[in-house]
Amino acid sequence: MTGGDLCEGCDFCCSSLGVCPVNENDISKIGRFLHKKYDAVKEEFVIFDGVGLILKSQSNGACVFLNNLTKKCLIYACRPQACQTFPEKAKITFSLLKKCRLARYISNLDTGE
Ligand code: SF4
Ligand code: SF4
Repeated sequence: MTGGDLCEGCDFCCSSLGVCPVNENDISKIGRFLHKKYDAVKEEFVIFDGVGLILKSQSNGACVFLNNLTKKCLIYACRPQACQTFPEKAKITFSLLKKCRLARYISNLDTGE
């Protein structure tokens, strides 16, 4: 079993964290996927949070790219690197540990069995 197999698909990371970091490569990839120019993607979907670039959130706190009905990522095929590797570089908080089995696994609080 790999760490990835432990994701329970609860969507907590996409619906509640509101801090998905993106880099220039992520923005370019999203632009190609959505057939939008880099600057248009940045303007529409990205903000600077004072530290770095992150995806915007919806009014309910979910990531701008989360479909609230299906709970699926609208850009899954080209989701940012931080999403692909989550929660490796995420801030591990108590609420994340409570919700996310993967976070517990990388924190050695879950053996994966
Ligand atoms: S919070 Fe953790 S377990 Fe839930 S969908 Fe995200 S990565 Fe998977
Ligand atoms: S881009 Fe997709 S995978 Fe990443 S946080 Fe948003 S909805 Fe989740």
